[in-house]
Amino acid sequence: MKTYYEVLNISSTASLEDIKKAYKAKLLENHPDKTPTPQNPQLIPIIVEAYNTLSDLTRRDEYDSNIQNDHKGKGFNIDGGGLDLYSLDDFTYENGMFLKSCPRCEHSNSMILTEEDLENGTPDDNDGFDIIVQCSSCSLWIQVKYYESA
Ligand SMILES: [Zn+2]
Repeated sequence: MKTYYEVLNISSTASLEDIKKAYKAKLLENHPDKTPTPQNPQLIPIIVEAYNTLSDLTRRDEYDSNIQNDHKGKGFNIDGGGLDLYSLDDFTYENGMFLKSCPRCEHSNSMILTEEDLENGTPDDNDGFDIIVQCSSCSLWIQVKYYESA
């Protein structure tokens, strides 16, 4: 199943403005009232629901945690659906922890990965590992890819 972010074709850090633009664009493509050649008119209710959810900050936060819970249910075998991908190089190493400022709320160093977290990442198919981390300020989740240090 597609996430609302995928339905609107936006990143999980999209601003309200981006969401509005994407919503309008999707309606223009798919609504029989807007175009003589609608691509997927059956998608309209999902597009509207995606917009109503993501344009409301409270509902968006709830939805983000639901996505996260789904991932947890799969034992952290995440496919990155709806989550933006970062590298450990985007983090700053300090006192045994990797720190990063939040790409959405821009809270300083609110994304934190410890050495212990990194030992529990999910191996990918390329000698790397994936882990997800949450902003302690706005609850945004991002996906981080890293490789075991030699
Ligand atoms: Zn944040």
